[in-house]
Amino acid sequence: MKIAIDGPAGAGKSTIAKLLASELGFVYLDTGAMYRAVALKMLNEKIELADVASVEKTLEKTSVEIRYDNGTQKILLDGEDVSDIIREHAVSKAASDFSALPCVRLKMVELQRALAEKRDTILDGRDIGTFVLPNAEFKFFLTASVDERAKRRFTELKNKGAECVLEDIKRDIEQRDYNDSHREFAPLKKADDAITVDTTSMSIKEVAEHMLALVRKKEA
Ligand code: C5P
Repeated sequence: MKIAIDGPAGAGKSTIAKLLASELGFVYLDTGAMYRAVALKMLNEKIELADVASVEKTLEKTSVEIRYDNGTQKILLDGEDVSDIIREHAVSKAASDFSALPCVRLKMVELQRALAEKRDTILDGRDIGTFVLPNAEFKFFLTASVDERAKRRFTELKNKGAECVLEDIKRDIEQRDYNDSHREFAPLKKADDAITVDTTSMSIKEVAEHMLALVRKKEA
């Protein structure tokens, strides 16, 4: 079985997907991490977004691998674990930019489909229900108001001891959502048959229970 969870930045997709995966005994695949790893490579190699020929050449010599360490996803870029560094702000921005290029997306989508083929998988991203796995048994579109999403990200960063400004976070989220939903190829979009879950005034537990109930009802 495949479960697709799409939605804008900071809607809680990865938190919920991890919870559901552990409840259902599924593998969780964080597809955003793959775009982040590619973006990190482009930043390291100082490749310009406009120079698509160089992006393509660099992609040919780039390996992105997913490993599971005690159930936790680790992402390897050319053999090196980059799971932490890809969360940095500059990488988020670059991921949104480079992921608009069809050559980047096609390489990552091929990998995502191959990984999802092997086991029952929950994937989170922007185009899972519309493009990566249009036949997924379950499609959810997770969203929340931009203010709420910014507030959640702010609290998360503060708890990690980071210096941040709520207004900056909100602007970044809005910019990424705009980029992701306005690109030509496989944009962020709710699949027609996806179930929308607006988490603005729901707790993580409530969201997870609601989604699990829907999955179990159909399974029964
Ligand atoms: O989900 P996350 O915030 O880690 O994703 C980082 C970026 O990767 C997104 O802003 C988006 O541009 C891109 N992405 C994508 N398609 C996916 C997952 C992520 O374009 N399936």
